[in-house]
Amino acid sequence: AKSLGRNNYQVYASNVDTSQQQQNELKSRLRHAVRNGELRVFYQPQVNTVSEDIVGMEALVRWEHPGLGMISPAFFIPLAETTGLIVAIGEWVLRHACEQARLWQDRYGLGLRLGVNLSAVQLMQPGLVGEVATILRETGLDPSLLELEVTESISVKTVPHLEDTLQALHALGCGIAIDDFGTGAASLDYLRRLPAGRIKIDQSFVRNIGVDPDDEAIVRSTIEMAHRLKREVVAEGVEVEEHLQFLRAQGCDELQGYLFCRPLPTPTFEKLLAERQRI
Ligand code: C2E
Ligand code: CA
Ligand code: CA
Ligand code: CA
Repeated sequence: AKSLGRNNYQVYASNVDTSQQQQNELKSRLRHAVRNGELRVFYQPQVNTVSEDIVGMEALVRWEHPGLGMISPAFFIPLAETTGLIVAIGEWVLRHACEQARLWQDRYGLGLRLGVNLSAVQLMQPGLVGEVATILRETGLDPSLLELEVTESISVKTVPHLEDTLQALHALGCGIAIDDFGTGAASLDYLRRLPAGRIKIDQSFVRNIGVDPDDEAIVRSTIEMAHRLKREVVAEGVEVEEHLQFLRAQGCDELQGYLFCRPLPTPTFEKLLAERQRI
């Protein structure tokens, strides 16, 4: 596989202390993070399995804390969800990423798909669909280029009207992807009920390619089932050549992972696009 750029942006503050007092301090800092412009969006390419061309990108938020450095979303998204701050953060990420994608579309004309994560808390907001519509209109991004990623851990039961909400988002012209596929208890029910054109095989399965024959069987069967249902498949967490070879042999549509590229800050991602255009 061709690596899409040498970098090491995955360096996070390793010394984030999580004592109760620190947690409370972080919460109140997080409350101001959007307003103070401390959030960043990184972009990770998704490539076509056969050509290895970039076909899409996932927007992944980071928090550049003035004292602590880059903080991982794995740490602050849960904090943002329990405090409800995820609503403001999620809206900021969506708007920011759509603006950027529109700009790149104008500049490079590649028609790259943009994946944006939606939290369960956002999906419970009655205003969500209207807000997505507004952001699409105001940024001018082609709705078919936006794909909203909904993780499988979100339960159809705990989020009222989940199906209706996703249908309404789908009706705006956006795609829906089921994230972390295979990790929840309701994978098949999800596939049957939700208007998702794509599933993202969770990295916990991909990691075990070449290690665990059971996980290999799950990956193989998931791809086959998704294709029978006319859904496309992205594999996440593709880290080594062996993963790529296996997924290619199984006909997986697209790949995302460190083997190709880590999530990149805006200028670095743009360099990738510019290089691609020159080829
Ligand atoms: P996710 O949506 O499953 O995103 C994929 C995660 O896998 C990202 O972690 C990405 O950096 C990481 N990753 C990509 N390729 C590889 C690989 O080859 N190996 C390994 N080990 N990891 C890889 P990240 O950026 O730290 O994000 C963690 C999670 O935080 C995301 O998981 C998502 O659930 C959440 N998140 C990130 N940004 C947002 C956001 O804007 N809104 C919401 N609601 N959640 C977000
Ligand atoms: Ca995701
Ligand atoms: Ca995922
Ligand atoms: Ca995840």
